[in-house]
Amino acid sequence: MTQDLSQELSQELSQKQSIWIKDPLAILADGAERGIVVHEGRIVALVPAGATPGSDNLTVFEAGQHVILPGLINTHHHFYQTLTRALPAAMDRELFPWLQALYPVWARLTPDALDLGVTVAMAELLLSGCTTTTDHHYVFPAGLEDAVDIEVAAAKRLGLRVLLTRGSMNRSQRDGGLPPDSVVQDEDTILADSARVVAKHHERGIDAMVQIALAPCSPFSVTTSLMRATAVLADKLDVRLHTHLAETEDENRYCEATLGCRPLDYLEQCGWLNARTWLAHGIFFNASEMRRLGKAGTAVSHCACSNQILASGCCPVCEMEEAGVAIGLGVDGSASNDESNLMQEVRAAFLLQRARYGVTRVSHKDALRWVTKGSAACIGRPELGEIAIGKAADLALFKLDELRFSGHGDPIAALVLCGAHRADRVMVRGRWVVTDGAIPGLDVADLIRRHSAAARVMQAG
Ligand SMILES: [Zn+2]
Repeated sequence: MTQDLSQELSQELSQKQSIWIKDPLAILADGAERGIVVHEGRIVALVPAGATPGSDNLTVFEAGQHVILPGLINTHHHFYQTLTRALPAAMDRELFPWLQALYPVWARLTPDALDLGVTVAMAELLLSGCTTTTDHHYVFPAGLEDAVDIEVAAAKRLGLRVLLTRGSMNRSQRDGGLPPDSVVQDEDTILADSARVVAKHHERGIDAMVQIALAPCSPFSVTTSLMRATAVLADKLDVRLHTHLAETEDENRYCEATLGCRPLDYLEQCGWLNARTWLAHGIFFNASEMRRLGKAGTAVSHCACSNQILASGCCPVCEMEEAGVAIGLGVDGSASNDESNLMQEVRAAFLLQRARYGVTRVSHKDALRWVTKGSAACIGRPELGEIAIGKAADLALFKLDELRFSGHGDPIAALVLCGAHRADRVMVRGRWVVTDGAIPGLDVADLIRRHSAAARVMQAG
């Protein structure tokens, strides 16, 4: 029996048993001082101070050195962009010229390179405590028709829960859009493939590990016809909708000049202003637009690192929440971040929003809430993002044994304030997918070697 197979069998066996994650150093849940019990992928009991679990048929995991958070949820990313990090041609540019510098490089993406890019992004996310991630894949050069299928396979290999979006672009330079012809597809091809990937991969129900959403890229790269048809298809297939909106002032100007309205009006005209939709960025909404978003149940993914690097602006998170808009966090693509560490994104969002709103309106607890419950609302998965009975057993466990934590007081605050960046253990659906700060079975050195080689080929052209 190979080591992989025996590991798989022992994982299967451990999923069937109940696990008591016992006596944590700290846990982000009330009434769980002595830990939690996990069974068949769900949290089945919280164990309060002075108590023990009812059942004695338990495997015990001693968590005395661990701070336990609900698994972190990433609501915006472009995995393939790990192949174009810190690219000199794109550095120090704002969104539109940054995109124009990168599109020709992305046009060289191949299935093998995508597989490596996706694996790197997912591994980075997992090791930072992420248990569920979205991805927005919208470049489909010839030969890369199976992009979503490649991503699904990688997620299953690594055990990460995913909501992968079938992205699209069909308004190229020929039609007044931003991207070159080589990375776009026509509307019929996009809609047919969207239906195909939903039928093939989308799971329903609270244990779903793979879900699909539909995601035209942005107003400046997609036709109105495709925006409308995608909303109709998402409604018919009952899947979520995602796109970039209100990211820059350039986008406002583009919408007003070519579409005759502001981005949110355009979204509404296209049939998107509803609870099926979550939007990346949402920086430039005015007060009445925020109220319309809140009323519609449309959520927003705040991408603090990306917004700072591209100097796009700062999402008005507190006003948005006061208007009833759910806020999640996203690392955004690795060409604009340039990393995929979700725990560091929590700190970045905390710092940016505290600088904007002050110490009384933003605390580390808000940032942790955005990346858990808020992100769960973005992706329409209320069973995720919380340590409570009946919720999914998706957990991120951090140790505080590094120099950066030495001398800490509050262990949960220390994760955000001292800059935690690496989980010691991660559980997804009751299964350990990170142990001792590593992904079992993943040869990281080999992955870096192959991914770096693929990136060099793409960047050289
Ligand atoms: Zn993005």
